[in-house]
Amino acid sequence: MKRVTARPENPHQATLLRLLRERARSRAELGDVAELSRSRLNLELDRLVELRLVEQAGLAASRGGRRSGMVRLAATMRFAGIDVGATSVDVAVTDGGLEVLGRASEPCDVRDGPVAVLDRATEMLAKLRGQGLFTQLHGAGIGVPGPVSFREGMPVAPPIMPGWDRYPVRETLGQELGCPVVVDNDVNIMALGELHAGLAKQVDDFLFVKIGTGIGCGIVVDGKIYRGVSGSAGDIGHIRVDDAGPICACGNAGCLEAYFGGAA
Ligand SMILES: [Zn+2]
Repeated sequence: MKRVTARPENPHQATLLRLLRERARSRAELGDVAELSRSRLNLELDRLVELRLVEQAGLAASRGGRRSGMVRLAATMRFAGIDVGATSVDVAVTDGGLEVLGRASEPCDVRDGPVAVLDRATEMLAKLRGQGLFTQLHGAGIGVPGPVSFREGMPVAPPIMPGWDRYPVRETLGQELGCPVVVDNDVNIMALGELHAGLAKQVDDFLFVKIGTGIGCGIVVDGKIYRGVSGSAGDIGHIRVDDAGPICACGNAGCLEAYFGGAA
């Protein structure tokens, strides 16, 4: 999976791809929604077609004048999602509209460290590739069960992930998969999932609280993940509830997780 993927070259192209992710649209409609002049729109769309990110899809119904050409995301566009859990790894491959085309899940201990776990994930993706699900990925996202520096694309001091502190997950996977990669905390990603395709689709501001082995929170403000200064704004599991409380797995006393996490 070493070939490097084509990617959008400017914000206009990124906007057009985002609009096309929702559905195929006519050039006329895209120009209206993206507020681009006809010449600029056609220039950017032609470039996206050249990059094989977008393809023509016949003619739209007439709006009165000449019929406008329909465009859609390239049918070959593929994204990968990787979910690293405490005791399992899940991978999925989607099309450009983020419909899941195939997935796989295997038991895997996050404490085996980043080299072993990421190798496992890329092997699982290679299997899906072998089944014909994709030839080239256009982007990948990975969620990990701990705090992440989103800007640097790496976990930072994750309590249950020995060996992962500041490991360059984004760089390593990007080289392995040959596409842009984003790394985030798993609960932030769950919140984004609800925002884009779930219960929170109609709201801009909400909290997503996950109570499992650990406790985490995704904070969405104005339609975006709020990360705070250090990038771990939603990391509520180790907020101290009571100084005299039970000892937590992290070594401190009285954390929220020590009261309400899986072990408790
Ligand atoms: Zn704790």
